Amino acid sequence: MGDVTDTQARRIGVVGAGIIGLAVARRMTELVPAATVTVLEKEDGLAQHQTGRNSGVVHAGIYYAPGSLKAQLCRHGGELLRTYCAERGIPLDECGKLVVALDESELARLRELERRAAANGVGGMRWVERDELREIEPNAAGIAGLHSPTTGITDYRAVAAAFADDVRSAGGSIELGAKVLAITPTSDGARVDTTVDTYSFDVLVICAGLQSDRVARLAGDEREPAIVPFRGEYYRLKPEREDLVRGLLYPVPDPAYPFLGVHFTRRVRGGVDVGPNAVLAFAREGYRRRDVELGDLAETLRSRGFRALARRNWRMGARELRGSLSKHAFAAAARRYVPAVSADDLVPAPAGVRAQALDADGSLVDDFRIHTLGRVTAVRNAPSPGATSSMAIAEHIAERALAVV
Ligand SMILES: Cc1cc2nc3c(=O)[nH]c(=O)nc-3n(C[C@H](O)[C@H](O)[C@H](O)COP(=O)(O)OP(=O)(O)OC[C@H]3O[C@@H](n4cnc5c(N)ncnc54)[C@H](O)[C@@H]3O)c2cc1C
Repeated sequence: MGDVTDTQARRIGVVGAGIIGLAVARRMTELVPAATVTVLEKEDGLAQHQTGRNSGVVHAGIYYAPGSLKAQLCRHGGELLRTYCAERGIPLDECGKLVVALDESELARLRELERRAAANGVGGMRWVERDELREIEPNAAGIAGLHSPTTGITDYRAVAAAFADDVRSAGGSIELGAKVLAITPTSDGARVDTTVDTYSFDVLVICAGLQSDRVARLAGDEREPAIVPFRGEYYRLKPEREDLVRGLLYPVPDPAYPFLGVHFTRRVRGGVDVGPNAVLAFAREGYRRRDVELGDLAETLRSRGFRALARRNWRMGARELRGSLSKHAFAAAARRYVPAVSADDLVPAPAGVRAQALDADGSLVDDFRIHTLGRVTAVRNAPSPGATSSMAIAEHIAERALAVV
């Protein structure tokens, strides 16, 4: 990428004050100090959706296909984030993560994970046998594990707030309560109509999370990939049972279902979460089971991608739904990893909703996906590890967006 600091872009717009939009805005102020950077956010506060409702894990980059954007940006983003949190006094605890194989049938996939981690250059990974596994997590089940000592936990709301402070200190502004209604690409940028005002930008970056497909379409982008919302429900261990888990305890992922598999996550501000599961949400921003947005639901059911996904995966969907409706089923899934856990140890915790992009054939878009439409750049898929990777995603996007001006 050439030098972008001599860009003609003076008015830079970003849609979305989640961690990615704020990271992009912050990066823009670094690259083009002479520009005016404006973030447009429909909510009255920062980080109200995925960023403020996730597991808080700083991923090491173990899982991702070597060479993918996720593999590159997660590792680099994690390094940038560690340095940033240290500088800004934001808590980040490298509590470590253990991925456990419950039986022989999972060993081959755990070995494959070890190979991936090595290919991705993730440092410090270690294969551990049963005894050592128990030294790390005395209450865990399993016959072998993969230990990542550098996986950590942080508070992504606090990170997003610090990014916003940086944007404002550099002269940028964050317009809350400004919902983007229309985007008109022009020969020299884009005009953006919001509920409060109309803006003209030389460069526009869309980081709209759960609404990313709709907002990108406003700018003339293609229909697919479409967002299908999956709610992730959590329970929390009662305080007197928190010592059942020391760090982060995960199952071996099933490559067919990247986000499934209940796990144990220590929170940086205290507490241990169990979850999340993945159930179809009937509202993109609906955090309770009873939240239904008819427009969202109809769009999901109409989407070609969702129908194809549902045909292939209804059994898995039914299993997740059972865990959602029954605390006992949820506890049973958790007990496979920590046998001492009972339903009585779990209390409900706030849920999140994942923006999962789906291609027309029903395949889950695995990698980060970014579309460029002249002077408009749209993030079309940024699921986990999007928060970990946010600063690296921002570097990646900002330089490309400015290069076209
Ligand atoms: C349950 C769950 C657990 C996760 N766990 C982890 C984890 O442990 N580690 C990790 O790295 N990642 C994790 N992730 C992923 C991570 O949270 C996301 O990758 C990241 O937050 C995406 O940030 P974002 O800014 O793209 O989206 P968001 O945080 O969703 O922000 C998008 C913003 O755009 C705004 N917006 C939308 N439409 C408009 C409009 N028309 N006008 C103006 N504003 C608009 C929204 O209001 C919102 O504020 C998890 C996600 C979920 C849901």
